[in-house]
Amino acid sequence: MNIGFIGIGQMGKHMSNRILEAGYNLTVHDLRKEAAAPLLEKGAKWADTPAEVAASCRVVFSSLPTPRSVEEVVYGDNGLRKGWKNGDIYVDTSTNSPSTIRKIAGDARAMGVSVLDAPVSGGTKGAEAGTLAIMVGGDPAAIKKVRGVLKAMGRKIFPVGDAGCGNAAKLVNNMISLACNSISAEGFVLGVKAGINPQVLWDIITVSTGNNWCAQQYPNTTFKGNFEPGFRVGLAYKDISLALDLGKEYGVPLPLGLAVQKDLHDTMTAGFTDKGVDAVILPLEKATGVAVRLTE
Ligand code: NAD
Repeated sequence: MNIGFIGIGQMGKHMSNRILEAGYNLTVHDLRKEAAAPLLEKGAKWADTPAEVAASCRVVFSSLPTPRSVEEVVYGDNGLRKGWKNGDIYVDTSTNSPSTIRKIAGDARAMGVSVLDAPVSGGTKGAEAGTLAIMVGGDPAAIKKVRGVLKAMGRKIFPVGDAGCGNAAKLVNNMISLACNSISAEGFVLGVKAGINPQVLWDIITVSTGNNWCAQQYPNTTFKGNFEPGFRVGLAYKDISLALDLGKEYGVPLPLGLAVQKDLHDTMTAGFTDKGVDAVILPLEKATGVAVRLTE
């Protein structure tokens, strides 16, 4: 099976590599051709436009930063729509707006093309190891056809409902996870300011009721002063904003979600948009004069 992959970034480079290593023929595209160099060396083919990818593959995946970039890849002058054929399948693994996906799915259906939204969780490490959780919305028959490819990237595949539902599940997950990220930063700054060694605090939290995935990452990130992405602050801000939009669409008030959005916005204003999401701790560390670090 020829598989296309568009968006060879932090996630896409690993996910597309997993597809290649599983033995599929792979055609790739990105705005930055240099991002694809390691894949091309391993035998992947390059396409200059999304339309070319669609023309040469029955199944195309994408991993793109924003709903706008997904719309550009689908509807742009040389977008996927220019190359789609009856029976093709498009799987967008980006964290995207459910309403954008529903629009794309409706337009694609008119051309005989199935659209699945299959956002992923597990970070760049999960992408590299092929252990992502994948939440899939869309036609069950299309999900069945691409299940083997999804299995190359993820350990757990969750069918969630119609196209758009995959992203609704993902946005709920990220809203919860980003709240843990912000509150863990506040908690560790408070604890260190109050005189507790960060390692001792971590040992307590990770076996107590405050345990969460974000705090678990600290030994590789915050404690070392390593704020390289990973998952960028700018993308996290996009995700919480999409979750808040979904809350408005369904009339669900999300006051804690709003506080998380403000925290991420403050982090961006302080100059950390392209740092990893653990960087939400940096403005608070500066304001309080503590550093949640471990020295070797
Ligand atoms: P990234 O910014 O590292 O990569 C995005 C890639 O898309 C870049 O290589 C960029 O050049 C390319 N691109 C952008 N616009 C394009 C266009 N119009 N045409 C072709 N290529 C284009 O982002 P990422 O961290 O890999 O995240 C990708 C998606 O996965 C996002 O929606 C993000 O929210 C989601 N996600 C990220 C993580 C993570 O830990 N990084 C985890 C889960 C989900």
